[in-house]
Amino acid sequence: MRIQLLSTHLANQIAAGEVVERPSSVVKELIENSLDAGASQIEIDIERGGTALIRIRDDGCGIHADDLALAISRHATSKIQSFEDLTQVKSLGFRGEALPSIGSVSRLRLTSRYRDQDQAWLYSIDGGDISPAPKPAAHPQGTTVEVRDLFFNTPARRKFLRSERTEFDHLEEVVRRIGLSRFDVGIVLRHNQRDVQQWRAGDDETARRRRVAAICGNAFLDNALEIEFEANDMRLWGWVGLPAIARGQADMQYFYVNGRMVRDKIIAHAVRQAFQDVLFHGRHPAFVLFLDLPPSEVDVNVHPTKHEVRFREGRLVHDFLFRSLHRALAETRPTAAAPITAERETAPIFTTPRAPQAPMPTQANFALAVREQLADYGRLHQSEADVAMLSMPETETEAPPLGYALAQLHGIYILAQNATGLVLVDMHAAHERITYERMKQSWEGEGIRMQPLLVPESMAITPREAALAERHADFLKELGFEIDTVGPETLLIRAVPAMLCHSEAKRLVADVLTDLNSTGDSTRVKEHINEILGTIACHGSVRAQRKLTVPEMNGLLRDMERTERGGQCNHGRPTWVPLSMTELDKLFLRGR
Ligand code: ADP
Ligand code: MG
Repeated sequence: MRIQLLSTHLANQIAAGEVVERPSSVVKELIENSLDAGASQIEIDIERGGTALIRIRDDGCGIHADDLALAISRHATSKIQSFEDLTQVKSLGFRGEALPSIGSVSRLRLTSRYRDQDQAWLYSIDGGDISPAPKPAAHPQGTTVEVRDLFFNTPARRKFLRSERTEFDHLEEVVRRIGLSRFDVGIVLRHNQRDVQQWRAGDDETARRRRVAAICGNAFLDNALEIEFEANDMRLWGWVGLPAIARGQADMQYFYVNGRMVRDKIIAHAVRQAFQDVLFHGRHPAFVLFLDLPPSEVDVNVHPTKHEVRFREGRLVHDFLFRSLHRALAETRPTAAAPITAERETAPIFTTPRAPQAPMPTQANFALAVREQLADYGRLHQSEADVAMLSMPETETEAPPLGYALAQLHGIYILAQNATGLVLVDMHAAHERITYERMKQSWEGEGIRMQPLLVPESMAITPREAALAERHADFLKELGFEIDTVGPETLLIRAVPAMLCHSEAKRLVADVLTDLNSTGDSTRVKEHINEILGTIACHGSVRAQRKLTVPEMNGLLRDMERTERGGQCNHGRPTWVPLSMTELDKLFLRGR
């Protein structure tokens, strides 16, 4: 076979293979064109999941009559002219491929009236066959693109389409993504002539929140931190869902780079790292985040559908994201304002029993005593708490966010009274977070102090564990453990971290060895330091069934208020739940 040039038609169909996967991809390309044209209102009409009709009408600048034929030709674009432009793309499109590609696999009609012109023109392509000349048409300033019978001439592609419902679900998700990216543009989406979404344009704070609530739900908005960080020409802003509303799937993660929704490994990694401390394994954070940086810092010419980008300074972007999110999450300590729990949105706490959240580990029933530590705890805080107790009557309104302890319920919960009502605290979850944050701090700071045991404890282990203990002896020392292997299957524990001096040493060491084992190769151990510290903190934390005195309880409440991320346990569950007087009154049908 000799070499020949592909026909225009075939070249367009090949390009269509990349950019037009299904109706939702057509919708994405067309809306992006409308946005690039400066539209402030976009109306989307869909019939039968987009397989029969996709019609997008905008009030943008329109296309000049003389350019209509070009608009549907391959490699023709008004958005870039030179390589220089390509290195700093500010528009969503720039490849000049979408319209001819779509036109090669559907029946496409393009009607447009250019700004300041009195006449609109219509051009059509029928599966790649271009109509010979534009026809005059009636249309206000702006553009309407109508795409009928997608893939009618490529039966193999058509077979890949799913049900109308599924195709519409995909399409609606694309519209949602774009809806979140441009608060200043009004969008209407109709399916089979019924209104599905209607978002008004508005770019002030209220309007933005309204749009986020419409797209992600009120529960998200009410349980999200609103953030804004700036550094080195980079700005990160948006909403980050608190760990308590993390999801079983990564289905509420909207991330935009210069207004373009992207999926990027660097971004995903930075977000995951920022959340690792507050999220239980297998849960996915929810967020709507915008990263703005100079266009020259991002290469968008990586993939035909532009879902991926390349950062010039990937490391910088990663660190900026990680630091910003990490800091935002660190602020989630209890405050008077925010109750941190998702269920409250949907159901009052006491009328629906709280369903156990399946993927979380249970914390009860570890009968591990930490008496001495707790005694210290009590002593440490006694005077402070007593003073607080004494001054409470006269300063009722200035009570700290978590208030003052009243009692302990079934050895599990602390009941406290604050200015607005009742506060319930899961004491183990709370103490675990506090211990964990302290361990991390001292690990990063002066190091973890060791406390020798009066009587060293001997412990039976497997040869594999003995090898691990020997190999990691130095690291274990840094963690506050002094351990000798005194036989092929025996360890002697001589010292444990001072912070939890009398917790049950054997179980603790066994669990740390398990951690070491699962992180595998010794060089990776330190990357997993937080997991290991988490394990240690879990052991060092007050267990269910442990009786606390009132000063001990108050000490715990004050520590929670001081501790970063104190609002949720290490697995992302809330450590406390408030119940206001109004809510209590409702339970008793008072005040009606
Ligand atoms: P690209 O967006 O990459 O430039 P397209 O094939 O999507 O390529 O569109 C080709 C050109 O047609 C665009 O560069 C633009 O000038 C014009 N165009 C397409 N859609 C619209 C629209 N809705 N409003 C105004 N101009 C449009
Ligand atoms: Mg385009």
